[in-house]
Amino acid sequence: MPKLTLDDLNLLNKRVLMRTDFNVPLSSAGQVEDDHRIRAAIPSIDKVLEDGGSLILMSHLGRPDGKVEAKLSLKPVAELLSKILSREVKFADDCVGKESLALSSSLKAGELLLLENLRFHKEETENGSEFAQALAVHGDIYVNDAFGTAHRKHASTYGVPEIMDSAVAGYLMDSEVKYMSSIVDNPRIPMVVVLGGAKVSDKIPVIKNLSKLADAFLIGGGMAFTFLKAMGHPIGKSLVDENLVESCKEILRELSKKGINYHLPTDCVAVSSIDSPELGDVCFIDELGDDKMGVDIGPMTVAEFDHVLEGAKTVIWNGPMGIFEVPHWSNGTVSVGKKLVELTKTGTTTVVGGGDTASAMKQMNLSNDVSHISTGGGASLELLSGNALPGLEMLQEKE
Ligand code: AMP
Repeated sequence: MPKLTLDDLNLLNKRVLMRTDFNVPLSSAGQVEDDHRIRAAIPSIDKVLEDGGSLILMSHLGRPDGKVEAKLSLKPVAELLSKILSREVKFADDCVGKESLALSSSLKAGELLLLENLRFHKEETENGSEFAQALAVHGDIYVNDAFGTAHRKHASTYGVPEIMDSAVAGYLMDSEVKYMSSIVDNPRIPMVVVLGGAKVSDKIPVIKNLSKLADAFLIGGGMAFTFLKAMGHPIGKSLVDENLVESCKEILRELSKKGINYHLPTDCVAVSSIDSPELGDVCFIDELGDDKMGVDIGPMTVAEFDHVLEGAKTVIWNGPMGIFEVPHWSNGTVSVGKKLVELTKTGTTTVVGGGDTASAMKQMNLSNDVSHISTGGGASLELLSGNALPGLEMLQEKE
């Protein structure tokens, strides 16, 4: 069901409490290293201020586990946001309590305030009801624009909208959900799904759900080795999730039964250790020695993946093909990224999701050259897995 958005409410003289995803990387000097997530929230912020509302922003940053950690303060975000908007951004040293409430309730139309890191309180991730109540009193209207945390049942994403009368989606949330849902609801076929990264557990539900739609799966990255083990190939010291070998076997059986193609690496870049970034040797998977581990897909696999991608009308990509953070081992990830850009130019719909995959595209300067890059890794995986997002469920439906 479509959700109400910022466009459906009168914001004049209203205090708008907006959950944003300002979980940005900070340098050791406390500077914001990548402002992508901050800029993604600007359209919703502008809307509230231009319509004569006052704005109280709340976000988490990192994992302080319920303790105040100075290096995870959102203060540098307030400073950068102020520069981007060319207006003052007030800052509250705590997200709840008398002082922050004094600041939020004294805001005038067109003014904005950023609350300190929500996760300085353990009740945020525990969805504590008193904490949710203490947050809710900041606003008349709740807006969720944090697609990146919409899969979490936290106080700011679930408890607060549950108790506020008015709870709607921000523009980023709305466009992300619409885009990802349209891919799943009305896919242009053939659809090819490229999966990689380390965690096979995250990707299994995606394979299960998308096997209703996909024509082929290309599986690379560390997760491929659990599948390769399930098929009886040697994997040396490569990453493996022993608990999921049987599930992988079952999934491959299901895919074969349904006549869906899947492709796993036939060669890889093999190294002795990931601690010393050596160049590594390319070898066939079946020749991977016991003392070696695969850290990237090899050139034969890249060629095979390219060939399968060639005919696709929709490509969904989540998870790097190797440890791309080490330049020697980034070839597979770079090749898939470039292939998607090439396909986008010829009219294929290309969707990239997942924090690491998005940052790989950014590293390659290709972020603007695919159809859609999702700002939310976990949330986009949930949507692709066919699961509801708790943060979205709490928002009001359109009539
Ligand atoms: P995920 O969050 O599951 O998408 O995993 C992303 C991480 O997977 C990245 O940090 C990669 O370095 C890592 N990764 C990709 N391929 C491999 C591999 N072959 N072995 C170990 N880690 C990998």
